[in-house]
Amino acid sequence: MNKYILALDQGTTSSRAILFNKKGEIIAVSQQEFTQIYPQSGWVEHDPIELLNTQLSVVEKVIRKAGINHSDIDAVGITNQRETIVVWDKHTGNPIHHALVWQDTRTANFCNEIKRDLELSNYIKDNTGLIVDSYFSASKIKWLLDQYDGDKSDLLIGTIDTWLMWKMSDRKIHATDYSNASRTMLFNIKTLQWDDRLLTFFGVNKSMLPTVNPSSYYYGDINIQSNVLPVHSAIGDQQSALFGQGCFNKGEAKNTYGTGCFMLMNTGSEIKSSSNGLLTTIAWGVNNKVEYALEGSVFIAGAAVQWLRDELQILEDAKQSEEMARKSTKDSVYVVPAFVGLGAPHWDETARGLMIGLTRDTNKNDIVKATLNALAYQTKDIFDLMEKESGVQLKELSVDGGASLNNYLMEFQASILEKVVKRSQNHESTAKGAVFMAGLSSGFWDMDALKKISNDADYINPNLKEQKVKKLYHKWKKAVQLAKGWLAED
Ligand code: ADP
Repeated sequence: MNKYILALDQGTTSSRAILFNKKGEIIAVSQQEFTQIYPQSGWVEHDPIELLNTQLSVVEKVIRKAGINHSDIDAVGITNQRETIVVWDKHTGNPIHHALVWQDTRTANFCNEIKRDLELSNYIKDNTGLIVDSYFSASKIKWLLDQYDGDKSDLLIGTIDTWLMWKMSDRKIHATDYSNASRTMLFNIKTLQWDDRLLTFFGVNKSMLPTVNPSSYYYGDINIQSNVLPVHSAIGDQQSALFGQGCFNKGEAKNTYGTGCFMLMNTGSEIKSSSNGLLTTIAWGVNNKVEYALEGSVFIAGAAVQWLRDELQILEDAKQSEEMARKSTKDSVYVVPAFVGLGAPHWDETARGLMIGLTRDTNKNDIVKATLNALAYQTKDIFDLMEKESGVQLKELSVDGGASLNNYLMEFQASILEKVVKRSQNHESTAKGAVFMAGLSSGFWDMDALKKISNDADYINPNLKEQKVKKLYHKWKKAVQLAKGWLAED
């Protein structure tokens, strides 16, 4: 039996390779950033060749760093930034364009047109679980195909997991998993097939699309410097973090505090649909079962801390926000970071950011604290909606992501939710989900072994009185109301 499982964690800003041992411990990590390409305002691209090369390079580095041989690796698991899409020529192996990244809004007008067709947008919601938005892959694929004037029957399409596997397997694997497919807006989450009506509407031929497999599955072998490694999982990053956090059961949820916040709740084999803007998505396919999740996202979370650093320049690094917030004695200042509008449950593109409750003695510590509080309040907005729409009362919230390292924020989060916040001591939940999935498929672990893998966590308890929480949250809601519709009459 080999000793390690290797995660390829292909994120939005960097490619990472992480080695885990049988105890689920991290042996070595290697990370490399790649170029963010912004050809126009609102357009975001990645060079697919750079994604591939950085990913290959970190794999080599992590193996060297750990001092192991390729043959010590039992299986590879891939987790990736979701929705980002590549179209390439199957003969030359070259992309026809840079990858269009999930954040890219070049197709927003087209998506607004679709939204006006109520029958079609309801069809999309009912069958893909998604709200029509440029964020998902379908309209991006149409844009890429529309600007290509060669023979379209030569083209293949894929999310980043698919692209990496195709290239690394010398063109043998053209596949993805249910979780990634469910973010394209072309996949029917009820029939578990590509949706014919949507393929026709977006001008996609089924032969261009990858085969859709379970997340935990033997996909085939890839070549790393002439060494053959078996790929045993592929899964989108947020779903992977849900599994990596140990939310194996229905009714368990996690929140990732990164650039934005992504809260996902495992809803088991049930497709729960939301009437207030939560998405329904496939969590994973594992052990011959497909399971679903409800998802709510906050657009601006850690990005608001970057705003304090880069635009207001009132702190030097994100970490400093903790100490500054603790110096503030006020809780009457509110920042609503609606910089790009507001997502669930408000769904208001015309909302814009505001700061309110200022007095003559308001200082920068108060503003930092109010910004961190906003992450917690926005999370509560989603959390309450999630409980309401799922009918599940959550006992605790598992957290991960860069900003979850902020102790002030996590304490305030626990207080405002009036729930325990559980922060895993292993911060690599995303990679962990992919290696768990891979280990299940290769026989390295079974479910019982995974449940026993140490998930040592810090438990952060609420420490504010109920009356106080009510008052604070009431004011947040009032501030949000003021931010809403700001651009409406322009
Ligand atoms: P992503 O995967 O979206 O790049 P990460 O999980 O790496 O995000 O988290 C980075 C984000 O978290 C940044 O937006 C940063 O401003 C924020 N962040 C990182 N550390 C802290 C901290 N100690 N306190 C508050 N915010 C933080």
